[in-house]
Amino acid sequence: MRIYVDNAATTKPDERVVNEMLLYYTEYFGNPSSIYAEGAEAKRAVETAREKVAKAIVAEPREIYFTGSGTEADNWAIRSIAKAYIGKGNHIITSSVEHHAVLHTCQELEKEGYRVTYLPVDEYGRVSLDELEKAIDDETILVSVMFANNEIGTIMPIKQIGEICRQHGVIFHTDAVQAIGMVPIDVNELNIDMLSMTAHKFHGPKGVGALYVRKGINLKPFITGGAQERGKRAATENVPAIVGMGKAIELATENIPDKQKKLSELRDYYIKRVLDTIPYSRLNGHPTERLAGNANISFQFIEGEGMLLRLDMKGISASSGSACTSGSLDPSHVLLAIGLKHEEAHGSLRVSFDESNTKEQADYIAESLKDIVELLRSMSPLYEDFVKGK
Ligand SMILES: *Cc1c(COP(=O)(O)O)cnc(C)c1O
Repeated sequence: MRIYVDNAATTKPDERVVNEMLLYYTEYFGNPSSIYAEGAEAKRAVETAREKVAKAIVAEPREIYFTGSGTEADNWAIRSIAKAYIGKGNHIITSSVEHHAVLHTCQELEKEGYRVTYLPVDEYGRVSLDELEKAIDDETILVSVMFANNEIGTIMPIKQIGEICRQHGVIFHTDAVQAIGMVPIDVNELNIDMLSMTAHKFHGPKGVGALYVRKGINLKPFITGGAQERGKRAATENVPAIVGMGKAIELATENIPDKQKKLSELRDYYIKRVLDTIPYSRLNGHPTERLAGNANISFQFIEGEGMLLRLDMKGISASSGSACTSGSLDPSHVLLAIGLKHEEAHGSLRVSFDESNTKEQADYIAESLKDIVELLRSMSPLYEDFVKGK
């Protein structure tokens, strides 16, 4: 049996989600734009899902736009504000630890003449509110800071960031992909103007996301064509996926406090076991202000890929850095931003639990890791030199 602890990369779709989606591949296959019964049924399903997504973040249904992914929602938010508010200014503020969906979009805009400030983060991966405030100038049109980091799990001071943006009349977008279903979110209480999410990170289907846009904000169409999504995002709606997203977000936000408690206990148990039994290891990210299921630990003198392959052979699916960067040999930009050296960043392992994981599994992962780290270190000339030098 495999142990899946890579829920930050993607999650297993909930059976109840899949069952509901199936109906929209078989019975209710209509095009929501058609006026006859099948179309009306599909449209109703899309609007019900929109209500569920809105409810989960205390927004209004008309403030929710469905997209094809979290990446698309991030692209849309940033590019739309850049385009719509160019009359006011061309300055965008983001953080140095964002997902590539945000970082690479900002880098593209720089090539087009926009000015972008990448806020540094502290050793835990949090931006400084002072530095944010100092970075805002008359030309700032957007602040985009992620809710929770996908690699190290650190949760940003979102409410305070939103407050600062509000005071300066700057739009605040947050990539909340990792936070949905893990942290209670009320966009009004947290002063959030725009928010990105994606269903496959909370036990929904892949290929469907959503963008929340506070009413009053000038949103430019992202894909032009038909009149779907109130003329802002053309293309026939992915009805089964949207239905699945609605069901998944309903389930994911049902009982967040219980989930947080259960997962953080498991996470802390695992972290303590690993740090206690494996020397020269350290926890990355904030000790308490972190996602309940995330444990990111660095092992000195270890190469991440070797660790992952050996874990895989023992039936464990985890990640070094993020899934998007594995395969490339560049160390994680997030781990470098929190001050790790290149070689430390390479030897990091992210375990992200969900509610199906058990203490026994955490034990097995920790034991396997201990053996693997010992083996890899025994083969490392760097480690040999280090031990001799002591
Ligand atoms: C996974 C992820 C994304 C991308 O979402 P997709 O739906 O896979 O495009 C964006 N931001 C963060 C923080 C993520 O973890």
